[in-house]
Amino acid sequence: MPTDIEIAHGYTLRPIEAIAALLGLEANDLEPQGRHIAKLTAETLRGLRSRPHGKLILVTAVNPTPAGEGKTTTTVGLGDALNRIGRRASIVLREPSLGPVFGRKGGATGGGHAQVAPMERINLHFTGDFHAITSAHNLLAALIDNALHYRLPTATGEALDARSISWRRVLDMNDRALRQVALGLSGSGGAGNGPVRETGFDITVASEVMAALCLANDLPDLQSRLARIRIGKDLAGTPVCAGDIGAAGAMAALLTEAALPNLVQSLGGSPAFIHGGPFANIAHGCNSVIATRAALALSEFAVTEAGFGADLGAEKFANIKCRSAGLAPAVAVVVATVRALKYHGGMALADLGKPDPAALARGLEVLARHAENLAKFGVPVVVAINAFATDAAAEQQQVLDHCAKLGLPAHLCTHWADGGAGAEALAHTVAAIADAADPHAGFRLLYPDAMPLADKIGTVAREIYRAEGISLAPAAARDLARFTEQGFGHLPVCIAKTPYSFTADEHVRGAVTGHMLPITSVRLAAGAGFVVALAGSINTMPGLPRSPAAHHIGLDEYGRITGLS
Ligand code: ADP
Ligand code: MG
Repeated sequence: MPTDIEIAHGYTLRPIEAIAALLGLEANDLEPQGRHIAKLTAETLRGLRSRPHGKLILVTAVNPTPAGEGKTTTTVGLGDALNRIGRRASIVLREPSLGPVFGRKGGATGGGHAQVAPMERINLHFTGDFHAITSAHNLLAALIDNALHYRLPTATGEALDARSISWRRVLDMNDRALRQVALGLSGSGGAGNGPVRETGFDITVASEVMAALCLANDLPDLQSRLARIRIGKDLAGTPVCAGDIGAAGAMAALLTEAALPNLVQSLGGSPAFIHGGPFANIAHGCNSVIATRAALALSEFAVTEAGFGADLGAEKFANIKCRSAGLAPAVAVVVATVRALKYHGGMALADLGKPDPAALARGLEVLARHAENLAKFGVPVVVAINAFATDAAAEQQQVLDHCAKLGLPAHLCTHWADGGAGAEALAHTVAAIADAADPHAGFRLLYPDAMPLADKIGTVAREIYRAEGISLAPAAARDLARFTEQGFGHLPVCIAKTPYSFTADEHVRGAVTGHMLPITSVRLAAGAGFVVALAGSINTMPGLPRSPAAHHIGLDEYGRITGLS
């Protein structure tokens, strides 16, 4: 079977100006980055603000499994299919991170005949946005250590307390060796170095700068968000922000290009915006508000993806991104595969090729749970069964029958094998539902801004995770009270937990109820604009697996990249 990159190389891409023309954009609306990639200019973005908006289609899924569900692939396939049936659709995705590209998961540009292109550029350096975010993040880190070195007073009047610094450094790489490091060692530099302190690296997608960029309305808003980022405390115990050490302006200056959305195309010739890529655990896991708004202003439909399953991803998409940006999805497409459902029904990964109607039936309870959850937001649900060559027809039929029993529209989709033609039925259903209603009329957030922070966490735990409640560690309860005193009680909460289970234990599968969600600690992301609630320990610097994807990536005799998937 050809690999994703081999399939992609079988297509001839159109010049990016031709793709932009589909959106009504002209050459001077673009800052081309080669022949097939362009950024929209800041001036063009400003001009889009007054445009009427198209409809937002959210692609989400059942909980992820090691077998892969295909949200990105389906987002691309649905975008292509909508264009094929004569509607004007844009695809809106996150930018891939080098961590997963060289680690376990591989690229994030879709698969088969439903990909965005040029996939090697998008998956590797793309337009340098992640490098810019890494630089802005690390500039703040350098300014912090410089302030410590010279014992500079901050805007609070006191110098920084080295022991309180919570701002770490970032790198877009899975590199467990950097999780904890000692800084400022004297070497032969004597008094020119130091002070010595302990810190560590996170992966760039975990940076609060990434989350802030993705939630910002524009550059001035981004600069004020950067200024609000908490970095630690001064010697008197007062919280200190990036703005208090004079870092926000230079950080924003590094991000002027990175804040502009990138336009590419799918293999089916649809316009695709790819911009920003925050982690879906300690951050909200969706592409930038700037790109989503641009796509909505330029198309009838903007088809976008939220990270992980509908519990983590769609909940944050609604309660964090839509709340902050005033967006409302018209339809939620829930991607499910026969394999993933059997896995959720308790089958071992190695057995997923074998038929097991009972396991599939148990897995369908998980799908039903996600659909019920999405209904709580007032968003109509359509199920997309992402067909794999290994699926038995009887199993696919079992899923379709079950959805019919639940009253959920569902379609078997073959976009991975057939491109947009394989998702036309899905596109017709999605378009019909989106056409029929004003999404803002039906859309509901799960909790109001005014609800106390602990109750917001409890609401998500009960309504989405179907927990009995939360067990809040005493230190976390104290921190929430402090954040509220400091004026951050109105922020939404960002639950950081395993994506594999409705519980905090990744090994518990199925549509369980009645558990307690343990909230072990909380963090204020004042720049991004949410409070992170951690259910267990979350790794913000992944490691490479024993057999990383990097071992299979290389160049052929013509210098073309091979092995990228
Ligand atoms: P997600 O966005 O849910 O993480 P992706 O769309 O990135 O998932 O797909 C994950 C992997 O699974 C990709 O390598 C993709 O090529 C593969 N994949 C997706 N759908 C199919 C399918 N129907 N058949 C075979 N492989 C698929
Ligand atoms: Mg994806």
